[in-house]
Amino acid sequence: MLNKSLDKVLRTTSRHLGRLELLGVKTVKDFLLYFPRTYNDTREFTKIAEIRTDEICTIKGQLTSLFNIRTKNGKKMTRGVIADKTGSLGVVWFNQPHLTRMLPRNSEIILSGKAKFAFGKITLQGPSYELIKKEEEQIHSGRIVPVYHETEGINSKWIREKLKPLVDNWIELFEEYMPEEILREHGFVGYKTAIRSVHFPDEPELLEKSKERLAFDELFLLQLKVLQKRWFWQNINKPYAKNIKIHNEILKDCIDNLPFTLTNAQTKSLEEILEDLKKPFPMSRLLQGDVGSGKTIVAALAVLNVVKSGYQVAIMAPTEILAKQHYKGFIETLKAYSLNIQFIAGSTTKKTKEDIIRQMKTGTVDIMIGTHSLIQEGIGFKNLGLAIIDEQHRFGVKQREMLKSYGSPHLLAMTATPIPRTLAITVYGDQDLSIIDELPKGRQKIITRLVPEKKRIEAYRWIEDQVKKGRQAFVICPLIDDSDVLEVKSVLKEYAFLSEHVFPSLKVGLLHGRLKQEEKDKIMNDYNDNKINILVSTSVIEVGIDVPNASIMLIEGAERFGLSQLHQFRGRVGRGEHQSYCFLFTNSLSEEGTTRIKAMEKYTSGFKLSEIDLEIRGPGEIYGIRQSGIPDLKMASLTDSVNIEKARKSAQKIINKDPELKNHPKLLELI
Ligand code: ADP
Ligand code: MG
Repeated sequence: MLNKSLDKVLRTTSRHLGRLELLGVKTVKDFLLYFPRTYNDTREFTKIAEIRTDEICTIKGQLTSLFNIRTKNGKKMTRGVIADKTGSLGVVWFNQPHLTRMLPRNSEIILSGKAKFAFGKITLQGPSYELIKKEEEQIHSGRIVPVYHETEGINSKWIREKLKPLVDNWIELFEEYMPEEILREHGFVGYKTAIRSVHFPDEPELLEKSKERLAFDELFLLQLKVLQKRWFWQNINKPYAKNIKIHNEILKDCIDNLPFTLTNAQTKSLEEILEDLKKPFPMSRLLQGDVGSGKTIVAALAVLNVVKSGYQVAIMAPTEILAKQHYKGFIETLKAYSLNIQFIAGSTTKKTKEDIIRQMKTGTVDIMIGTHSLIQEGIGFKNLGLAIIDEQHRFGVKQREMLKSYGSPHLLAMTATPIPRTLAITVYGDQDLSIIDELPKGRQKIITRLVPEKKRIEAYRWIEDQVKKGRQAFVICPLIDDSDVLEVKSVLKEYAFLSEHVFPSLKVGLLHGRLKQEEKDKIMNDYNDNKINILVSTSVIEVGIDVPNASIMLIEGAERFGLSQLHQFRGRVGRGEHQSYCFLFTNSLSEEGTTRIKAMEKYTSGFKLSEIDLEIRGPGEIYGIRQSGIPDLKMASLTDSVNIEKARKSAQKIINKDPELKNHPKLLELI
């Protein structure tokens, strides 16, 4: 019934119906769930004697006169007088001669608008009006008035008029779906009350309670969905349980031989992962940690444990540079264990690829490291026990699912773009979270400064000085509107400028996405060996590069990058013992840009920055949320941590007791 099309219920034109459709409103239900954007509280009437010009006032009184005239320049004008106990006031409207028919003389009326001072007196100009009819509820004034998102031809007044009878007549058809225990626990108002009051609230307290209830519902249903998905994933995969034991001795031995001690956060994350590996269903865990927090070694230890249990491991990274770096890193870290570690990427020759795939399928490869090539057709594993995705935010949901499909391995995703917890448990809520929230000891704070143009030369000379002391620098060129070609052009120009004019005596290198893989590799190797002092690069550098001797990051056109990205760039330095610096240059700064740069100067924590980013840009922009299937929330906010936690707890309770929602058919239908 509630799905009845509006053309069967509303008395209006097809043009209006079309407009409503543009707002996403097609059925009675859509319309009733089209919530106000905000409210005007016009419960207090202004006394005519107390009116001030240029302020919105709402007056209740009697319309003592009303007539049409034509002004000297031919405009149609409707003039009238409204009176209350304290006085009377002139009112004018332009081009609305029909008003004299609609507003009978001496009727009780509410006018709302701005009073202006003109020709020596105060006049109310073009106010909105509503006749007071004795038995009917006021909907446009004299109350908390709902204001809706409008579109051409459809304003809030129109919406209120059409919506009111629908609310009155159809609301009973909405059914409460929230389990009694949750309603009681949080003291929520009923669903019908909430919908009615959110449109036409009787009092502000009830409005607040209704908004709270509806916001909770949205978050709750999202949580219910991800938590059920998680339960299914665990349950469906029970038959493929891996028999993984924890090899404490081996792990201890490996940890003892590291050139550093693990941080507490690393140890805790490792324990959480090992705990998952023992379980009879696959892990689905997201390891979050700031750039340089040392996620790789945590992953490597988990890998070692899984391989020692007789399973294969796959590690997928978003770029070839990064995959290669992992490949080398894993060989180095695990060299004492004589494992077969292989690498596969776009640049791998067909013949080598075939050979490696054969090894993967027969099970001779222990650890397979690569790019997207790992999830291409023809790939398979003999017994994949663990799949790791580095920089998971660079991959889509599909790619993650693809990796999972190779025999339901344990899945560990890693990201250096810390996602605020609120978002993480909503967007990636089917995953468990481990967080490395401390950097290894001895890391210095990276000094970050916005450099004004007039100090550019000074900055260059300073960098030269640092390089002569043995340090290395990155120069990142601005992002150019998704155009690879233009970007390469600009980076070539910058490279020529810097190598010929600014640093002629230094070795300047160049890196961009259009280079051949061997060229990229050679440059990264040279940079690693300090054969290149300054590396000029496009944003390809963003992910995962690890050169401890690099201590200066110079970013051109910093205003063009998002906060997470800037933070990623900055994470390329400060990885070694040297005090490191991040210099930001900008061409122009919007207000938002300024906020971002200020945040960069002030904060070093990626978590803090991601929260700020979330507030400035909203979740859609940053995390491609639409792509991950989260609907736009109408009432709730993805930054509302208190309510998100509340919703998650309540949803978890339901899923614990009734994972398939057999006893909650209405909820099941909704998700
Ligand atoms: P990310 O979390 O950004 O992937 P990496 O795993 O690449 O960080 O680690 C960054 C650097 O820190 C590497 O050179 C790594 O060897 C080093 N590292 C990792 N853990 C520690 C630690 N506990 N103490 C000191 N250095 C560490
Ligand atoms: Mg990393």
